[in-house]
Amino acid sequence: MARIAFIGLGNMGGGMAANLVKAGHEVTAFDLSEAALAKAGDNGCARASSAAEAVENAEAVVTMLPAGEHVREVYESSVLGHALTTAILIDCSTIDVATAREETQKADAAGYRMVDAPVSGGIAAADAGTLTFMVGGSGEAFERARPILEKMGKTVIHAGGAGSGQAAKICNNMLLGASMVATCETMVLAQKLGLDPQTFFDIASRASGQCWSLTSYCPVPGVGPATPADRDYEGGFAAALMLKDLRLAMEAARSVDSYTPMGSAAEELYTRFAEGLGGSGKDFSAIIRMIDDSWIAR
Ligand code: NAD
Repeated sequence: MARIAFIGLGNMGGGMAANLVKAGHEVTAFDLSEAALAKAGDNGCARASSAAEAVENAEAVVTMLPAGEHVREVYESSVLGHALTTAILIDCSTIDVATAREETQKADAAGYRMVDAPVSGGIAAADAGTLTFMVGGSGEAFERARPILEKMGKTVIHAGGAGSGQAAKICNNMLLGASMVATCETMVLAQKLGLDPQTFFDIASRASGQCWSLTSYCPVPGVGPATPADRDYEGGFAAALMLKDLRLAMEAARSVDSYTPMGSAAEELYTRFAEGLGGSGKDFSAIIRMIDDSWIAR
């Protein structure tokens, strides 16, 4: 079993670190939040008083931080040059592709092996240890990170070289955001044309319009399997996080001059919903309320 430093024990990191402890690893945790750190302590992690202290003597360092700037700050002030160069560095945060590549280059230059390993699956999957990891980095770094990631997830996929995990994550979420908007406007139109929503769901789920946003995550309450729509759009994947990922996708698209008309429409719509209409805390499928004008009045 390994000595693991875990930095960033928020909604996602808390459950992930707890699963590493359950698997028998010795986890030393650090977070700027006292509440997050106290919870990690209750879950069996040792508490460190700084990120630099947490990484001392660690065989693996896992970070689960909000965004690229936090990852850069933690890596450059407390990980590189502080951890043993034999430690495998695993960043599970969702961040921009450029920062992921830059930090891997800096880690390489300092003699470390590093992977970017963002996740698909929300807080429930983090707690249950059923996340999907998309991993960028060398084959050697991937093989060293894999056994640790397997204790926190059910699927671990090597996406390619440095930054490829982040690229896969934001491409997947751009597709998801755009397909959710398309599903919402389709369900609203079907209803306005007099179709019963469940009947249309049954048809489209078996026809060529089938997609995950419709069949597995239907945004209409009472239609299809149980989803956040049935709980007033609470829980699930917050619209604010979808917007974050769409912005990362658009930034990445601009960096390689890729034309993404549907992605940019989704970004604009989620900006309006999350920031203009106060929907940021709701599940991302709640955007149907903005698309169906009759819902806005409710
Ligand atoms: P969160 O805000 O709940 O947790 C982040 C934690 O990092 C906080 O506890 C914060 O105090 C800590 N932190 C920030 N700066 C720090 C520093 N310099 N040193 C130590 N700790 C620091 O966020 P989350 O929901 O756990 O998300 C973490 C990452 O996972 C994000 O990149 C997010 O996009 C991604 N993600 C989240 C979900 C989700 O459903 N919440 C799903 C998939 C991916």
